[in-house]
Amino acid sequence: MNNWDMETEVLVIGYGLAGAVAAVVAHDAGSQVLMLEKGKYPGGCSILAGGGIKCVADVPGAIDYFTALSGGRVEPSLITAFAEAMSGNEAFVRRLAATDGAEIKAVYKVGDEPIAVYPFLGRESLYEVRVTKVPGFSGFPWVIASRLNGVNMFKMAMDNVEARKLPLMLSTAATRLVTNAQGEVIGAVAQSQEGERRIRARRSVILACGGFEQSPWLKHQYLQGTPFHSMAPLTHTGDGILMAQKVGAALWHMWHVHGSYGFKFPQYPIAFRHAFGGRRLAKRPMPWIVVDRLGKRYMNEYPPAPQDTSHRPMEVFDPDLPGYPRIPSYIVFDEAGRRRGPIAQPLAIADYLYRWSNDNSQEVERGWIIRRDNLTELAEVIRTTPENEGKMNPQNLEDTVARWNEAVVVGMDALGRLPGTMMPIKAPPFYAVPVWPVITNTQGGPVHNEKQQVLDPLGQPIPHLYAAGELGSFFGHLYELGGNLGECFASGRIAGEAVAAEELLP
Ligand SMILES: Cc1cc2nc3c(=O)[nH]c(=O)nc-3n(C[C@H](O)[C@H](O)[C@H](O)COP(=O)(O)OP(=O)(O)OC[C@H]3O[C@@H](n4cnc5c(N)ncnc54)[C@H](O)[C@@H]3O)c2cc1C
Repeated sequence: MNNWDMETEVLVIGYGLAGAVAAVVAHDAGSQVLMLEKGKYPGGCSILAGGGIKCVADVPGAIDYFTALSGGRVEPSLITAFAEAMSGNEAFVRRLAATDGAEIKAVYKVGDEPIAVYPFLGRESLYEVRVTKVPGFSGFPWVIASRLNGVNMFKMAMDNVEARKLPLMLSTAATRLVTNAQGEVIGAVAQSQEGERRIRARRSVILACGGFEQSPWLKHQYLQGTPFHSMAPLTHTGDGILMAQKVGAALWHMWHVHGSYGFKFPQYPIAFRHAFGGRRLAKRPMPWIVVDRLGKRYMNEYPPAPQDTSHRPMEVFDPDLPGYPRIPSYIVFDEAGRRRGPIAQPLAIADYLYRWSNDNSQEVERGWIIRRDNLTELAEVIRTTPENEGKMNPQNLEDTVARWNEAVVVGMDALGRLPGTMMPIKAPPFYAVPVWPVITNTQGGPVHNEKQQVLDPLGQPIPHLYAAGELGSFFGHLYELGGNLGECFASGRIAGEAVAAEELLP
């Protein structure tokens, strides 16, 4: 016998955006819902997000675009289902907005360009909505976010959960799923401060508990480079992946992370992202270059989505070293660069609050940013740091910066930096900071079908188990900005409707 402590129809594990959407939709479709959240606050990664929510204006065009974006890693039927679901996002967001009067803005272009990032067929079929204002709301006390659209969006989602009085257990982590003799998922075991709770779910369990951004073990197993740091909340240890695996789920997209290079200092358990977010702006100068541990430049530091893909060139392994010549790398800039504005943009829940100084001077004083009068001395200091292991070559660094300055003059970079983004590095003193691969969020998790049912390795649904959000995301090749939030709305809706249609288990 199972000795249940509690009973519900639909158990939603994780109260980020996907969990909130799934819970609201399942409730509105007539189901009794209970939500569990491991953290002491709701929000997960969702509450830190910039708040761009991708939507689809034209389904056939979006199918072309998502097909190119998926690089052959996602089946056509799933691409079609995803495009169709994303086409319902704006109407759904507006429905949620009616609860608290949130203001919604649709954005189709950035300057003259379509808002979708990559130059694939169907690019014009995508647009974004943003929650620009929630009346009377100016931010959560427990979150440091740079852009209000993201916290507005989560506030709107929370207002909908609260308006429906959906029961919620905070600081309660699901630890495993419970199945019956037929392999159907019939509930979960959770750990709260009061002890273990066995919760029966008579219709289904929806896993909406995000990624493995803060699991050292999963990162070591699935990502080539190491170490990867993250700015995600510390609760994000891939619990949903492990729980789903234990009941027979297949995994996908585990290698794919939305990330960049960024900063990690021992005083803070989370990483800080660099200050260039959103889309690349062709005329926004970036003050730094990135060099490897030996002092050589190797990447375009400012790709089309600067908080995505630039960790990828860092993951190279050199068997002759042996090791990772690009982990850590170093950003290098000069006095003019230091004065241009903060190089980092910490985003976090308030427990890990850090306010980066506008001119970076505070971080120079802390010793996080290395300052020296010339490049040779700068390289010598880097060489003595434990993570560099004596690899930095001062002549390499001098040559790299000299070549960079020549490239800036002619406005042409062999690695593809756009001329309007290039700045010379020649006004002393000079600065360097180690940078690491930093995960914004992971995309891997259990494979799902068009109904968000979790599948086993033979493609069969695991009965009464669903996944939504970034846990087993659609994005398994190239990420589209705003795509994860768009997916939370789309997949949360699909899962919420599907569980409400499930027969009640006896
Ligand atoms: C800084 C930052 C900026 C971003 N900007 C954007 C953007 O502008 N647009 C965009 O589309 N995407 C953006 N993303 C990505 C996007 O925010 C996430 O992919 C998305 O919000 C994930 O939502 P989710 O509901 O799946 O998971 P989350 O929002 O991460 O929620 C998962 C929740 O599950 C909880 N949980 C974990 N384990 C358990 C357990 N065992 N039991 C109970 N609860 C558990 C977690 O504590 C968490 O609260 C950004 C991400 C970050 C970190």
